[in-house]
Amino acid sequence: MPNERVDAVIIGSGYGGTIPATRLAEAGMRRVVVLERGVRKETRELEQSDALAYQTAVVDLVVSSQNIAFRTGKLVGGASIAMDGAMFRVPRRSFERRDGAGRRHWPERYTPEAMAPYYQRVEEMFGVRHFPWSEIPKAGGMFAKMLARADASCDRARMNYGDCLQCGFCAQGCIYNKKHTLLHTYIPRAERAGAVFRTGCDVRTIERSGALWTVRYLEGAEAKAIDADIVFVAGGGLHTPALLLRSRAAGLAGLNAHVGEHFNHNGELQFFGVLPEGFDDLDRYKCYAGMDNAGLMTWHWFESDDFTLHPGGGIEPTVFAAAVQSSTDARLPRKAWGMEFKRWVESVYPHRVMGFSSLGLADSHHAVTIKPDGSPDVVSRPRESYDRYLDRLEARVQEVSRASGVAIIPGYPRRYSGMTSAHLLAACRMSERAEDGVVDPFGQVWGQRNLYLCDASAIPYALGVNPALTISAVAERVVDGIINPASRMS
Ligand SMILES: Cc1cc2nc3c(=O)[nH]c(=O)nc-3n(C[C@H](O)[C@H](O)[C@H](O)COP(=O)(O)OP(=O)(O)OC[C@H]3O[C@@H](n4cnc5c(N)ncnc54)[C@H](O)[C@@H]3O)c2cc1C
Ligand code: SF4
Repeated sequence: MPNERVDAVIIGSGYGGTIPATRLAEAGMRRVVVLERGVRKETRELEQSDALAYQTAVVDLVVSSQNIAFRTGKLVGGASIAMDGAMFRVPRRSFERRDGAGRRHWPERYTPEAMAPYYQRVEEMFGVRHFPWSEIPKAGGMFAKMLARADASCDRARMNYGDCLQCGFCAQGCIYNKKHTLLHTYIPRAERAGAVFRTGCDVRTIERSGALWTVRYLEGAEAKAIDADIVFVAGGGLHTPALLLRSRAAGLAGLNAHVGEHFNHNGELQFFGVLPEGFDDLDRYKCYAGMDNAGLMTWHWFESDDFTLHPGGGIEPTVFAAAVQSSTDARLPRKAWGMEFKRWVESVYPHRVMGFSSLGLADSHHAVTIKPDGSPDVVSRPRESYDRYLDRLEARVQEVSRASGVAIIPGYPRRYSGMTSAHLLAACRMSERAEDGVVDPFGQVWGQRNLYLCDASAIPYALGVNPALTISAVAERVVDGIINPASRMS
């Protein structure tokens, strides 16, 4: 039997897949099929549950062979369902970042000015707004107060939440429809224009068939194949490189050696702080209350040291207690076990604990490979440059600790860098020249006609801020270049 034949196949329904699907269908392409391995959960099917089984049904936990767990999307709408709402434009400094040889990581045509119309389009779609102080939870206020004691400024975040109820279950999916996900924005438009989203379709490989692409996938146990003129690979930061590596192993020629290399988790490191007695109105503060992203951030060290800081709630007592284990701070217990330690944790949780994370312009120290079953793995690469970034970051954070009186500890030891990261960038990076990356400046895989890729893995380098808005704006620009070739001149 001949394969099913369509115009476009989109693999994955996160930002990097749904946005091209929407725009191609709206531009009149008749047969646009999105193959998504996950299920579709409507708002009424979401739960406010901390049960691991539920959480891993909403977010894909990919555990590497080095026992580092990364988080990525696994539902229709990808990680837009679980994300924490922060949607920042990338500053000029990030676009202009250069490698050791003095070459820009981003292709030349990516500048704040050239991206502005695409950022604006996405911000309008997701209802992104500058959060007012009246909607910032107390966890954000504590963070601001800590920074004020260290003479550092902070800004209100830009987020895609409307009229948030501060229930604190953002990563489980918002049961109140206050977060504007792809299911609230692009997906209904794509479907109105005729695009079809198929669930439970796990794409295994892609291959060339003359002028067409053949996409091979499993729907349950059944092996299927579909032919298309144009394919977008958009499985997210880990599954996209894994799919290309599987395809190469199955015979797809012409993919270069950069596939999987340069994987970058955006300089993310989690910190916990233990607030001193009398810091504020501590009885009214609970570290887990309020939205997962606490609505603030600081650019204070971005120009000098390349990182931003972002407060967040949702701190689990066990995760916090485990982090104390690695601390050498004299203000904290010396041993992290026994009754005395349990009593100490009870005395500080939840009124004296705070959490925040860094994001920063840090070099890669990982690559994505595949395990024998073809699933993604993350392996180590040289990390001297990354450790220098961490040295700068930790030194600044300790200055804040001394000035504010807040005892600050990293969330995990350095060897686990990347643990729980959801910013999975650059493993199929975009590049100005074919010899430096996987994807050309227009989103087409180098040397592979009509094979496009504009999800998290195409973002060439760390951003220093949360990536969803930029992934979306790049996707808008790439698909605009297909629909309106004249836009490629801008
Ligand atoms: C809990 C959480 C909180 C976050 N908070 C923020 C935030 O506040 N701000 C921000 O900017 N970013 C945030 N992020 C990160 C952001 O959501 C991701 O960077 C973004 O979703 C990546 O988009 P993507 O399209 O590349 O991949 P994804 O959104 O991960 O989508 C990929 C899709 O492809 C599907 N897929 C994968 N492989 C296959 C296959 N072989 N066949 C078929 N389908 C496949 C997956 O099931 C998934 O649905 C968060 C992420 C998580 C998990
Ligand atoms: S905190 Fe706000 S956005 Fe998050 S789940 Fe609750 S209502 Fe939704």
